[in-house]
Amino acid sequence: MRRGFITVMHILRCGLTQVELHVHLDGAFDELVMFAEAKALQASGRAHNFLPENVTLFGETYPVRRAVEGCSSGQDFKRLASCKGKRSLHAMFRCFEIFLPIVRGRLPLIEELAFRFVERQAAQSVVYTEVRYSPHLLADGGLMVLQTDDMEGSPRPVDSDDEEEETALPPVPMSEHASAASARAAVDAEAVYQAVTRGLRRGQLRFGVTVNQILCMLAFRPDWALDTVRMANAHRKHGPCAVVGVDVAGGEEWFKRPAVPEGEIGMHGAHVRALAKAQELKLNVTLHAGEDTDASNVGAAVFEHGAMRIGHGYHLVDDPGLLARCVAKGVHFECCPTSSFETGGWSGESSERMDWSSHPLKSLLAAGASVGLNSDDPAVFATSLTDELLLAATPAARHGRQGAEKAWSAGAGGLPPSSGVGLRYDELVKATLDAADAAFVPRAERAALRASLEARFMALEKVRGSAL
Ligand SMILES: [Zn+2]
Repeated sequence: MRRGFITVMHILRCGLTQVELHVHLDGAFDELVMFAEAKALQASGRAHNFLPENVTLFGETYPVRRAVEGCSSGQDFKRLASCKGKRSLHAMFRCFEIFLPIVRGRLPLIEELAFRFVERQAAQSVVYTEVRYSPHLLADGGLMVLQTDDMEGSPRPVDSDDEEEETALPPVPMSEHASAASARAAVDAEAVYQAVTRGLRRGQLRFGVTVNQILCMLAFRPDWALDTVRMANAHRKHGPCAVVGVDVAGGEEWFKRPAVPEGEIGMHGAHVRALAKAQELKLNVTLHAGEDTDASNVGAAVFEHGAMRIGHGYHLVDDPGLLARCVAKGVHFECCPTSSFETGGWSGESSERMDWSSHPLKSLLAAGASVGLNSDDPAVFATSLTDELLLAATPAARHGRQGAEKAWSAGAGGLPPSSGVGLRYDELVKATLDAADAAFVPRAERAALRASLEARFMALEKVRGSAL
């Protein structure tokens, strides 16, 4: 038994062919590229043009610029931009405030980060992936909160001292990366899409990974919802690296029907309207649902808003009847184990004990659901798809909470955790094939992907058989 497990680990490390459907581009930025960029801005005296001095989130003020400028190595930046071990949604959102200001509106950097994303997927034997992002969030003015004024402005320092300093500085020099036409002029969502697509296509050509895109609406920006669907429809046939679907990320508050009608521009109304449009256009829909809320959001996502895939969906296991209906409909669940632990999406006593063998993905599997494994925001959670497979494959172990926490904070980068979900090898293979079957591509492409995966797994099976 133990020897079999070691062989599974060996196969995972050697590169079990993988498919990843739920990974956010802006949660997967290459930390070393970001660190080099932050240092270049600092060295040229332009950091203040991009990084706000402070950011106030959830009532707490955080000195972003000082924290970034204090990093003396890529590892420092990696730690700063990750919330691993903190188990806090607030800490997770703070990570995005570290790197989004450096990236927003900077097209060559966005293109490079998209290219590096494909490189990273190739390095962990991913053969097919769908990467999601909000093009509006990476555009100039793409702030994390809905602004009522100054919507077009670049992020600015929020304290008054720094505003004085800002006005005393010479005009922002033209970025050496940017073309004359786009330098600090409003870079819009379309330009961001074009830059991402260029990077992904270069990556696909260079590394041989098939990549498609999902455009995300963001719950807290209802003003972007309909335009996101419009963009997805406009670029659905523009392969390679076409847009194959839409999502709503950034929280599930939009599911809640308000007591007072809010029209078509409120959080609920705007997203319902945009998703109705997506269904009318026959766009593929995947929705973050049931992550840290109750099962009813999954029901609404599937049976009202046309989602055939669900991001997370852990709380659906609390409603076995609804779960059975989703399974009967063939819904695919994009599970992200590390993310679920760090954000509290996986909650309750088993989570407190870090008893991975009781993770809801086991209940989804037991109910016969189609389940895939994903990294969600690998840079933020200091994980990778390979780490997620290792976590899923590692047998459950019982140890004290303190020891488990220590092991969790230390584990990453290919080191198996001391305790895991305990899936069998055939269950890991099934998860990959389930993900392939749920890819947002035409039936013939899905069939070809499945056939190529099965051929690779058969070859691996021979290696595994001879090693046992
Ligand atoms: Zn996600």
